Amino acid sequence: MVEVVDHDIIIVGSGIAGLRAAIEIKRQDPSIDVAVISKVQLMRSHSVSAEGGTAAVLYTEEGDNIVSHAWDTIKGSDFLADQDVVWMFVKYAPSEIRQLERWGMPWSRRPDGRIAQRPFGGHAFPRACYAADKTGFYEMQTLYGRLLGFDNWTRYDEYYVTSIVIEDNSFRGVTAIDMSSGEMVFFRAYAGIIATGGAGRLYKFTTYAYTATGDGLAMAMRAGIPLKDMEFVQFHPTGLVPSGILITEGARGEGGHLLNAKGERFMSRYAPKAMELAPRDVVSRAIMTEIKEGRGLKEEYTGLEYVLLDLRHLGEEKITQRLPAVREVSIKHAGIDPVEEPIPIRPAAHYTMGGIHTNKYYQVLSTENKWVKGLWAAGEVAAASIHGANRLGSNSTTECLVSGMIAGHQAAQYVQKLKKEGAQLETPREEIESEEKRVYDKLLKTETSNVSVYDIREEIRTVMDRYVYVFRDEEGLKTALRKLREIRSLVEKSYPEDKSRVYNTDLIMSLEAANMADVAYVVTQSALNRTESRGAHYRIDYPRRDDENWLKHTLAILTREGEVQFSYIPVTITTWKPIERKY
Ligand SMILES: Cc1cc2nc3c(=O)[nH]c(=O)nc-3n(C[C@H](O)[C@H](O)[C@H](O)COP(=O)(O)OP(=O)(O)OC[C@H]3O[C@@H](n4cnc5c(N)ncnc54)[C@H](O)[C@@H]3O)c2cc1C
Repeated sequence: MVEVVDHDIIIVGSGIAGLRAAIEIKRQDPSIDVAVISKVQLMRSHSVSAEGGTAAVLYTEEGDNIVSHAWDTIKGSDFLADQDVVWMFVKYAPSEIRQLERWGMPWSRRPDGRIAQRPFGGHAFPRACYAADKTGFYEMQTLYGRLLGFDNWTRYDEYYVTSIVIEDNSFRGVTAIDMSSGEMVFFRAYAGIIATGGAGRLYKFTTYAYTATGDGLAMAMRAGIPLKDMEFVQFHPTGLVPSGILITEGARGEGGHLLNAKGERFMSRYAPKAMELAPRDVVSRAIMTEIKEGRGLKEEYTGLEYVLLDLRHLGEEKITQRLPAVREVSIKHAGIDPVEEPIPIRPAAHYTMGGIHTNKYYQVLSTENKWVKGLWAAGEVAAASIHGANRLGSNSTTECLVSGMIAGHQAAQYVQKLKKEGAQLETPREEIESEEKRVYDKLLKTETSNVSVYDIREEIRTVMDRYVYVFRDEEGLKTALRKLREIRSLVEKSYPEDKSRVYNTDLIMSLEAANMADVAYVVTQSALNRTESRGAHYRIDYPRRDDENWLKHTLAILTREGEVQFSYIPVTITTWKPIERKY
């Protein structure tokens, strides 16, 4: 029997979005009982590795304003962002920054003691607030510290959530494996907030933590919830070669230059005005074009081709003060001290623009565009959509804060109302039993297949790196789909070698692999489906943006038969008509 554990609200994910949501619920009503579930120790969520900054308008007296932040975000999104959501985002962003300040965030300072801001790609004003190059780490510390000030919430570290349980279009709870015992638990609640982050680990060359396997996205689809705009994956221009570890955009914000093998600042060819601070899609394509046209360099052991990020002219003092992690990571992982030598970099998978279909209040929507009662999504896993086809750097941590705040606020009000009405928690036995079967049949089956789940994960990443990267075309995407179909059938046949229950990481890896295979398949099919180039999605065979046919969001759902079904919804355009993007 699956143990049933009751809470008022369940938050899946303890990154910036999850923690911010938890605080907001407690601020609304300290009597609401909250569970925060994470598959890793709470503070190991990927958010701790955010480096460069968090965007918000602070100094209007110096010329910045929210109109400019909204315009930069919408232009950056290649006009696929929903403009009403962007307006709400830029309005709430400044108060989130000041709030963190009051909760103890050690922002880097200007000489006058006020919060410092640095330039970031695609932003017309230096508006990325930062704490050296460890912004996410300090934000997580600050949020966690604030949350500790409240009682009546429980953290469930190392609980792996396997399904979102929905009945009669209402959220009922989630099933999870307690990794320490291997037993399944049904967390039952009035409301749920999914804050499981992105899916960067679908790729091999990525800046993401090993945990970013897209579980929340796959679980949503299994529960019948569509994913929006999954073809849009962001490639960050500066992944350190050969590991893929992020070299923050802050390095270019502080004045770093990109050089090809001939020593040319090649960005003058692609974005003569913005140069290295053009948006990420533009810079990544520029780097890959230099490489394709033979002006790149080649790493000896991996064969990875790259260009150079030169920080030498910034000087040792600035590099050490503003970019200490960049220096440390370059020395430790590439044997290069950026004070003396340029850093080898190439585009790395970095962000999932697409995600769970929500409205502007981060309420999760069904295929009929109806709110799934009691369910919200926040942070990177949600597609509201602010970032459209391309996210601007430093806008994601801001979205985690704003969306966490909105989802938490709403969930608290919703639960207060239900409790007043005397609503009861429900246990959909059938759904739970079928999930138990899906998970434990794998574990309990005696066969040991000769298909290693580790090989499967590696194969997914190899396919995605090769065919669903910065430049895409029909032939490559079709090859990828064929390979991913084979991989999905192998996933069905693979079993964890380890049959024990206690800390069975083999089982977790298998469940993650199944999620990765589903999400990779949907990303690839969505990329094949969109026959235009927009933002981060670039089709060599359809190099133009096609507003007539494609100024719309894609909604994708994976059927039980393994087919991806698409539907479309219009982009909300309230203020600015799409124009050609030039930087
Ligand atoms: C190296 C790096 C640097 C970045 N730098 C910046 C930056 O400077 N500025 C910026 O704005 N953005 C940056 N980003 C992007 C930004 O950090 C992320 O988009 C953001 O932190 C995501 O936060 P989140 O709260 O949505 O989820 P995450 O922080 O990714 O957390 C996900 C949570 O979900 C939990 N979870 C997932 N699946 C399950 C499951 N099945 N069961 C239980 N729990 C689960 C995890 O345990 C974790 O707690 C960076 C990203 C990376 C990778």
